[in-house]
Amino acid sequence: MTKQNGYSRRDFFKGASVLAGAAALGGMGAPTVGAAAETAADIPRRKLGKTDLMVSAVSLGSGGDNSDINVIKYAISQGVNFIHTSTGYKKGVAIQNVAEAIKGQRDKLVLGLKITWAPDNDTALDTALETLGVDSVDIAFFNIHKASQVSDPKYRLGAERWIKAGKFRYVGLTSHKETAECLKAALDQGFYNALMPSYNISMEEEFLPIFERAGKAGVGVVLMKSGRGLNGDAYYDAVPQYLATPGITTICKGYGSFRDVQKVIEASRQPADAEVGKRVREAAAVTMTGHCMMCGTCDRVCPQGLPVADVVRCSDYYMEHAEYVGTAFLTYAELAARPQASICGDCDRCERACPNGVPVMHHIRHAETILA
Ligand code: SF4
Ligand code: SF4
Repeated sequence: MTKQNGYSRRDFFKGASVLAGAAALGGMGAPTVGAAAETAADIPRRKLGKTDLMVSAVSLGSGGDNSDINVIKYAISQGVNFIHTSTGYKKGVAIQNVAEAIKGQRDKLVLGLKITWAPDNDTALDTALETLGVDSVDIAFFNIHKASQVSDPKYRLGAERWIKAGKFRYVGLTSHKETAECLKAALDQGFYNALMPSYNISMEEEFLPIFERAGKAGVGVVLMKSGRGLNGDAYYDAVPQYLATPGITTICKGYGSFRDVQKVIEASRQPADAEVGKRVREAAAVTMTGHCMMCGTCDRVCPQGLPVADVVRCSDYYMEHAEYVGTAFLTYAELAARPQASICGDCDRCERACPNGVPVMHHIRHAETILA
């Protein structure tokens, strides 16, 4: 049977029949627990670094606009067992949706929670757990975007205290700015159990040695934002390539429909294919040319200390990712300071410093016009 975009017709119809079964359960209603037992073994499970957590090779994020309760329930019913969330996603709606979707299923799930507050803020953590409807999560990820902050002992002390209090068992670091440097700094610290970087396949040159180092050190790697630059079925073609990469444990992403969930599960079962991988890499390289790679250089050179990369990210969300339009507005609104024509004047230092040729000034003007 010939394969197109890495899939055979048999793969497609197998997925379609499962979707039809889900629909028969009551439109977009929740599938049964029995369905979970039937299909759970089909998704590859992987050990997250040196932890005792076995996570599905494809896992569920709840960022962006992808936190539909029924899609989350469906993913769980199909064997996705690792779900990551944050109080910050969709202004708190995402974590509430996850809470609703996981009711009565906590014991079969691995839960990850992004910590966006100070590591001594017990109230924020307790509120998050209460919102999620659980006493504890399995792993918490500190949200750090400056490599110089990773070594701050407050994170280790906070993690140790919260682990002792039973709030979570393992600690990770998540980053989407100065990402490579943050990951390296985290590996230097030696106490993180997992890393969750913003990453896509066009960034291999810089990140593969880091992932390999993580693998050797027994630190799990959970990818996020891995679909950037991969349009249409290219993302599903990239999944086997990601999963074959030494060090990468699981791909965490939000999905908008039952069909998307089924497609990524099917993709997780495919072996990496050199020809498909070559095509995906070439496509991603073209698509990502001139797109932000979230290196954070623009932030570092801004004489006014403005969050330039965040504004580029918001503008990029709006223009490139339909499912993130809501996030673009919310994130932009929450920025404490924003680059604007009236503040920047004739300066264009950020754009000149960008190593990836991103039209930063265009994004600044675009965000000011569309998102403000
Ligand atoms: S806009 Fe350029 S410099 Fe700024 S984070 Fe993105 S890639 Fe780096
Ligand atoms: S143009 Fe604005 S955002 Fe960019 S470096 Fe200058 S002051 Fe900072």
